[in-house]
Amino acid sequence: MDHDPLSDLPMTHSAIDRDAPSRADPDLLDQLLADPATRVVELRGGRASLRPDGVLLRRPPEPADADSLLLYLGRLDGVAHLAACHPQTPGPPVDREERLDAAPFVTLRDVATDLPAQEAELFATALGLTNWHARHGYCPRCGNETEVVEAGWVRRCPHDGSEHYPRTDPAVIMAVTDASDRLLLARNIGWPEGRFSVLAGFVEPGETIAGAVAREVFEETSVEVDDIEFVADQPWPFPASLMLGCTARATTSDLVCQPDEIAEARWFSREEFRTEVAAGRVKAAGRLSIAARLVERWLGERLDGLRPR
Ligand SMILES: [Zn+2]
Repeated sequence: MDHDPLSDLPMTHSAIDRDAPSRADPDLLDQLLADPATRVVELRGGRASLRPDGVLLRRPPEPADADSLLLYLGRLDGVAHLAACHPQTPGPPVDREERLDAAPFVTLRDVATDLPAQEAELFATALGLTNWHARHGYCPRCGNETEVVEAGWVRRCPHDGSEHYPRTDPAVIMAVTDASDRLLLARNIGWPEGRFSVLAGFVEPGETIAGAVAREVFEETSVEVDDIEFVADQPWPFPASLMLGCTARATTSDLVCQPDEIAEARWFSREEFRTEVAAGRVKAAGRLSIAARLVERWLGERLDGLRPR
C-alpha cells in the first residue's frame, strides 16, 4: 500500500496549544465568554454540531453558555476555544437547532474519520474531558460533591481540599502474528457473527505496556508472545481510553478462548482474510480505530477496498 495506515489515524493530531498556565486564572472563563473572538464548541450529551459544509461548528460565545459546563480547550491558531457542555442529548430539531442552520448533533465516532484533523482533536479533547466530569462529581476521599476549577481541568473538594485530575485509562491493542505471518483475530462474546478484531485490554496497575500485551493475549487466547513493539497510539474518549497499538510475535499457536470474553479466535493468512471478507463471513471494520489500521498494516491494503462478492 502507498502509505502507512497508522500515519493518518483519526484523533491523533496535536495542534492545540493547551495553554495550561492560563487555566489557573480564575477570571479566564468570564473573559473568554465576553470576547467575541472566542470560539465555542457546544456539546450536548457528548454530541457536537457540524456546519452544513461538514466542519465542526465553532461559534462566538452566547449568554446561555455561562449556564453550561465550560471547559477551556486552549488555543488553535491563536484563537481561544471553549467547550460548552450540556449533559442532555439533543432532542429532535427545534428552534435552537434551526438557528444553527439545522445542523444535526453528531457523535465523534460518526465524524472523526471525515473531520479536519485539528477539529477531530478539539472534539476528542472536549468529549474526553466532559466524560470525565460526568463520572467524577463526588470526592473519592470523602464523598462530598466536588467543584470545577482550573477552567475545567481540575475538580476540587470543598470539604477536604483534595484536587482531582482528568483520567485517561491506557489500554493495549495488538496485532499478533505467527511465524507464517498469519494474524490473530478474535470475536468478543458480545459481537455479531463475522466481526473480528485484534485483541485488546486495559493496562493494570504496576504493569508495563509489554507486560499488558503478553498477559492479555495469553488470558484471551492462551497464545504466548515475544518481540513486543509499540507502533502507534490513539486517544479513544469512549469514554476515557488511550489505545497503545503494538505488534507481537506468537511463540505458540494453539488457541484456547477465554470463555467469558472471547467467542472465537482464528489465525488468518492474508489470502484467507480476503477470501472470508469476499464470502461475507468476516466483516471488515470501519477505518476509525487503530484496530482497523493495525489490520490494514498487516494486510497491505485498505479495509474499505475489500467488499463481499
Ligand atoms: Zn473530599
